[in-house]
Amino acid sequence: MCQTHQSNVLSVSHAKANFERTTIERRALRPHDILIDIQFSGICHSDIHSAFDEWGGGIFPMVPGHEITGVVAAVGDDVTKFQIGDRVGVGCFVDSCGTCEYCQNGDEQYCTKGVVQTYNSRDYDGEPTYGGYSQKIVVTERFVVSIPDQLPLDAASPLLCAGITTYSPLKHWKAGPGKKVAIVGMGGLGHVAIQFASALGAEVTVLSRSLNKKEEALSFGAKDYFATSDPDTFQTLAGQYDLILNTVSANINVDAYLSLLRVDGTLVNVGAPPKPDQFHVFSLISGRRSIAGSLVGGIQETQEMLDFAAAHNIAPQIEVINANQVDEAYERVLKSDVRYRFVIDISTL
Ligand code: NAP
Ligand code: ZN
Repeated sequence: MCQTHQSNVLSVSHAKANFERTTIERRALRPHDILIDIQFSGICHSDIHSAFDEWGGGIFPMVPGHEITGVVAAVGDDVTKFQIGDRVGVGCFVDSCGTCEYCQNGDEQYCTKGVVQTYNSRDYDGEPTYGGYSQKIVVTERFVVSIPDQLPLDAASPLLCAGITTYSPLKHWKAGPGKKVAIVGMGGLGHVAIQFASALGAEVTVLSRSLNKKEEALSFGAKDYFATSDPDTFQTLAGQYDLILNTVSANINVDAYLSLLRVDGTLVNVGAPPKPDQFHVFSLISGRRSIAGSLVGGIQETQEMLDFAAAHNIAPQIEVINANQVDEAYERVLKSDVRYRFVIDISTL
């Protein structure tokens, strides 16, 4: 168990560079570590923000990828949760302190010591972390989840970020029967959010820039669909929603969306544009409204989300690509030309 594990990866040497094939060494297994043979890795818009260094502080060379599914290839001596051959997933985080109040509460993403992200981060020994555009990864068992048998490993991979990032706030803000929920932006996160909100029993409206995706939105469980490029939309829908989940990767007109909330309604942002948004405080005061944000979700909740997806036949709609197509896929995501998530077939790496 003391040898390191060589892995082919796709890496970018600096911000906005093209992807290159190279190799890295994954650490030798510690007692609670699991070695995973990665089969599929989704492309999240956060990968693009990071690889382009749009949020700043990028650690290069960078191997993105935090929507990882694969099979357990080896386990450390003290591993109890998994066995060789198990179908598993890894999301946005690979370590946390485990003892602070948030970790104890299952909210590892808000760890006070600082959660270790799957890539573009440093582990507690100071080593850079490398993500899922990779043949292998070594992760401590606490941050590995089981993929239910009903979910294929390719379609399951986007659930590890897009799935939990939308499921967690929908649960936290109690999307359910009797609630009207609007999903803003129908990309990787948005198209999964529609499915979760609808399965939770909420009445779902999709707010997308054009009418192009209407038919698919309705097939995912939306009841209504409106184009935000049409100014009438904001008149028609004024004061209607209990909850708005904003999944847009760019800045939005926050005041316009706040005007769609009922009294006591909440606009929750999960989309993470690099530049600040602006809003007028009157948009909140005039309806005792709230504006909020949410980061991914905890590990136990990620397992709950996967089990919920399996039980409710929820699955991301994906386009599987090979390892040579990632630069092109980034360009297409930036043009919103993906229905609705690219997933890399890691066997081509
Ligand atoms: P995506 O697949 O590119 O989807 C984003 C959607 O936003 C697009 O499909 C488009 O929807 C809309 N959009 C894009 N550009 C726009 C613009 N200029 N104006 C208005 N709408 C625009 O991205 P994603 O992977 O779902 O990620 C979305 C955002 O969430 C990213 O910023 C990502 O970093 C962030 N994120 C946050 C977390 C978290 O924990 N909070 C986790 C994962 C991702 P329409 O075509 O329907 O209008
Ligand atoms: Zn993501």
